[in-house]
Parts: sequence; C-alpha cells; structure tokens
Amino acid sequence: MRVFVISGPPGCGKTTQSDKLSKNFGLKHISTGILLRNEIKLGSKLGKLAENIISGGNFVSDEIACQLVKNVISANLFSAGFVFDGFPRTLSQCKEFDVILKGFNAEINCFFDISVPEHELIQRLTDRGSHSDRKDDSDIGIIKHRLDLYNSTAQDINDYYKFKGLYYELNGNRSIELVFRQIRSIIDYKLK
Ligand code: ADP
Repeated sequence: MRVFVISGPPGCGKTTQSDKLSKNFGLKHISTGILLRNEIKLGSKLGKLAENIISGGNFVSDEIACQLVKNVISANLFSAGFVFDGFPRTLSQCKEFDVILKGFNAEINCFFDISVPEHELIQRLTDRGSHSDRKDDSDIGIIKHRLDLYNSTAQDINDYYKFKGLYYELNGNRSIELVFRQIRSIIDYKLK
C-alpha cells in the first residue's frame, strides 16, 4: 500500500495535485477538508460539530481528524494506496498517523510540501471565495487566520518528515502541470 501526503498552506494547490496524483497512480484521494465539508452538507452529528470551527478557519480536534482518516482507510483496504490532502496538520496528528498506518501495515512513502508566496495564496483564496460557497474563503480576516494557523504548525511537521527522510519541497508557484511533473519524477525516483 503506497501512502503519499500532499501538504502546504491553504490555497497552495494541494487538492488539485492530490487529485492528479490519485488518478495517475490509481490511488484513493483522502482530503480531510472535503470529508468534513461533506459531513456538514449531510447535517451529521460530526458535521454540526465541525461547522463553526471550519467556517471560523480553525482546526477540528486531532481526535476527529484521525478518526476520519482511520475510517476511510478501513473502508478502502483494497486500494493500491492513498493520497492524503490536508492531513496531518499538527505534530500530534503526524505521530498518531504513524500509529494508524502501522495498524494497516503501511507507512508514508513521500511527504510533499507545496510552497507558494503568501501574497499569491491570498490572491488565490480570495478568487476562490468569490465563486464558491466556502465561508472560510469569503473573508480576508479568516483567510489570514488560516495562513497564520498553518504557519504555526508547519515547521514542526516539516521537521518531523525531514528527520525521517520523507520530505520534498515543491515550488507551487508554477503551472499545475509543472508541479505535477516534479511530483511524478520524485515518485518514480523514490519507488524505482
Ligand atoms: P485549506 O487547505 O484550503 O484550508 P481544506 O479543504 O484542506 O482547505 O480544509 C478546510 C478546513 O477543514 C480547515 O481549515 C480545517 O478547519 C479543517 N481541516 C481539514 N483537515 C484538517 C485536519 N487534518 N485537522 C484539523 N482540521 C482540519
């Protein structure tokens, strides 16, 4: 079972690249953000709990995020592998993720960190907010709060994967195709 993580700040293109990676390599794409927004749409207990947290630009608890991930892996045990998008987002999620994966006899193969200058991220998120119903993209204060929250946890997470030799930084301020080409060449090199 292959496991890839696509990380980076809000607006860096995580979901776009995860989608391409999952389609090209026949992997299951797991975005905790999409899963949570689905729960909100469904009006489930979890969705009700998460709604205000997400629209305010905050993180749901590590427990909720990890449980979601565990459930999706369990439901897709016969998948060739997974692309995680927006998870893990805190150091404790990183540690718990290792335990979860171990339970499925799996481990992370590569951790990709897509970096994009902050002014470009703000531009992308405000553009997205103008034609989507995402409340967390519709307010510049909330966008900046999400960027600050990301910046407050990113260093620890990146160091965690650098130490394990799994960390790859990508310049996300390029075309979708160029970023993806780099992801593919790293995977080809790493898994050959
Ligand atoms: P973005 O990366 O643009 O913030 P996502 O769709 O990945 O968009 O996530 C949307 C929101 O969902 C986050 O701001 C956060 O509130 C919540 N969320 C997603 N993943 C996690 C996670 N691993 N831990 C805590 N909260 C999460």
